[in-house]
Amino acid sequence: MDILRSIEASRAACAEFTARGTVGLVPTMGALHDGHLSLVKAARSQNDFVVATVFVNPLQFGQGEDLQNYPRAEAEDAQRLKEGGVDLTLFLNADEMYTSTNVTRITQGELGTALEGAARPGHFDGVLTVVCKLFHITTPARAYFGQKDFQQTVVVRRMVSDLNMPVEIVVCPTCRDPDGLALSSRNAYLSPVERTEGLALIASLLEVQRQFTGGKRTSAALEAAMREVLSQKLTKSPDYAAIIRPTNFSRPLNVEVGDVAVVAAPVGSTRLLDNHVLGDKLGPFSNSL
Ligand code: AMP
Repeated sequence: MDILRSIEASRAACAEFTARGTVGLVPTMGALHDGHLSLVKAARSQNDFVVATVFVNPLQFGQGEDLQNYPRAEAEDAQRLKEGGVDLTLFLNADEMYTSTNVTRITQGELGTALEGAARPGHFDGVLTVVCKLFHITTPARAYFGQKDFQQTVVVRRMVSDLNMPVEIVVCPTCRDPDGLALSSRNAYLSPVERTEGLALIASLLEVQRQFTGGKRTSAALEAAMREVLSQKLTKSPDYAAIIRPTNFSRPLNVEVGDVAVVAAPVGSTRLLDNHVLGDKLGPFSNSL
């Protein structure tokens, strides 16, 4: 596996790949876990070349968020990506990605300001801007994102469609620990007690799925059931616990198969998020790739 750090060298290497076949791109912020590796595995199976990026994107962190403390593990990440069959990893740096004259941003109005965007103003402008830049640097045929960050998958797909970007977005299922906790680099911040508290999120999703399967369709009742589970298990109030229509994040009065239960909550010093597409299978869990 090659490793490159400059944009110019990365562009040249990816141009060579695209001249010879398809590139699958896996964008990450590093501190890799099996969830990231599942994206690599999907990319490996569908493309001639796999390019991974590791870049802690300052633009998507708000003031007072964990940019400085975000876990970094470059050597371990490189090893895991190599073992996963990645051809080229780009460790890009913020000074080159955002020079002092770099002012252009991608923004998405209403979609980018709902839910996570409301809790983290400007977050999705940062995400979309860096994803757009990464697409231009690596020219992928396909790019791989996790269902775990559900809203991100929707806003990225919308950007690709709105701006006619020639890339297919592939969304991979959420990888979980055996007890159901969604894998996240930020789980490293959790103490054992907080980790147990974090299971509230999956418990609320299991409950909403159980009631949905039992025939309950009223959004208010299903959301109340989620909040009830969360209030029993969490120390702090959730940022949101809602059922939304995935196309536009509206809140349906009556819930249908394919609507998405989304939840985000502060646990200890971090924030956890999770989601579940109603009607899909949820558990029993396994973190095998
Ligand atoms: P991050 O490094 O947190 O920016 O994540 C990079 C990519 O990995 C994003 O597309 C995430 O949605 C995806 N990802 C993160 N956690 C998981 C998980 N538990 N299962 C599947 N994909 C994930």
